[in-house]
Amino acid sequence: MTDHPQRLRAMFCDHLSIMRGKYLPASKLKDDESRFARPTFSVHYDKDLLIEAPGTKCLEGLPDMALRWKGDEIRQGWEPNTKVVTGDLYAADGTPIPMCPRSALKRAVAAWEKHGLTPKVGIELEAYAFIRDENGQIVPYDTPGGVVYGTGNFSDPKRFTDAIWNKAQEIGLPLDLITAEYDTPQYEFTLTFGPAVDHVDTVVLFRQMAREIAWDHGVILSFLPKPIPGKGGNGMHINLSFSDAKDHNALANGDHGDPNNLNPLAKGCIAGWMQHHKAMAGLIAPNAQSYNRLQPASLSGYWCNWGGDNRNVTVRVSAEGGKKARLEHRMADATSNPYTATATILQAALLGFEGKYALQPMESGNGFSSNDATQGTAASLSEALNDLEADTPLTTAVGAGLVENHLYMKRAEVEKTALLDPDALRDWYIWYL
Ligand code: GLU
Ligand code: MG
Repeated sequence: MTDHPQRLRAMFCDHLSIMRGKYLPASKLKDDESRFARPTFSVHYDKDLLIEAPGTKCLEGLPDMALRWKGDEIRQGWEPNTKVVTGDLYAADGTPIPMCPRSALKRAVAAWEKHGLTPKVGIELEAYAFIRDENGQIVPYDTPGGVVYGTGNFSDPKRFTDAIWNKAQEIGLPLDLITAEYDTPQYEFTLTFGPAVDHVDTVVLFRQMAREIAWDHGVILSFLPKPIPGKGGNGMHINLSFSDAKDHNALANGDHGDPNNLNPLAKGCIAGWMQHHKAMAGLIAPNAQSYNRLQPASLSGYWCNWGGDNRNVTVRVSAEGGKKARLEHRMADATSNPYTATATILQAALLGFEGKYALQPMESGNGFSSNDATQGTAASLSEALNDLEADTPLTTAVGAGLVENHLYMKRAEVEKTALLDPDALRDWYIWYL
């Protein structure tokens, strides 16, 4: 077999959280661009082209957008002789297109940098494994000896998670842990925290790599928020900290994380998340299944509450302090675009910090229930989208054009999925998420 020259797989993560891209020759392994049709942002999971989707110019000649990347952001890929990169999407006038999720994250980072603070992010992904049975039906992967924190072949007989681990090591992708979750066959993957844009690039590349390696083993790895009714959901927990000009962790207030001893930065971030709780859901939990996951007593970020080392609150103040001080936001799921979700987390936190919002008291109950059901996220995607649309400070901060396209596409998704039973709903999405 001849040794092929390197190629570049240039990709972006779209409004549906699908990675789209092209294979390109080695001559593109530098600062460069490649063009895609802008109406990609009007295509739905069922491949329906919605020509009126805002910002996509379907009715203005379906023009190009340019995906631009930096040579120094090109990474080792997981396929033979293939490098990978993600980038930002530009219109013909040289400005980012309004729907570009990575540009929305860059704006959010820049807004924090004006305060001398660099956001650091660490994302945890959960996913269920499925296989196709002899009739072609999608069924859960059989892991008869699976337990919470399971490792080894009782938790993963086909050992596809080992293949994911080994490939991540080989290509230098920073993975902190893989373990089996409480329900089977569910797994958790935690990526090493880092500067926001670089980290989310890692997340979207990892998620794609993991799904492709799993599929090589005959496993469909799904990040859908609630693929198996009655079992736990799949979250995408977003951990946040900031480094200041001296590279100190700006959330730190002593050697231990203490919810009774938060500094003004931490209080501002949490207050922003509390005030924009319902609206954030429309962006960071944007799937027709998301509201089956966001329920009371599901450890998932349903209630508008916060606390210390407590998995049953939406915002958990880590018990680790000093360099490791961080806030964990537990509402998002990985059917959101991770750039958009992280931008939303950062912008809501900034609204609270800059606006000096008052912080509500921390959760005093066990978090399994509350006397006030109005304090939860919406009951459905359609209501969550209304909550999002009603919150002008948040939608303006994240990006009015991005949110307008999102509302249109997601309202179409509500209609398209309305009559599907749980298995049909899972199968509508499963090849993409
Ligand atoms: N699976 C839970 C969720 O949907 C989170 C469980 C945990 O890792 O604490 O977010
Ligand atoms: Mg977990």
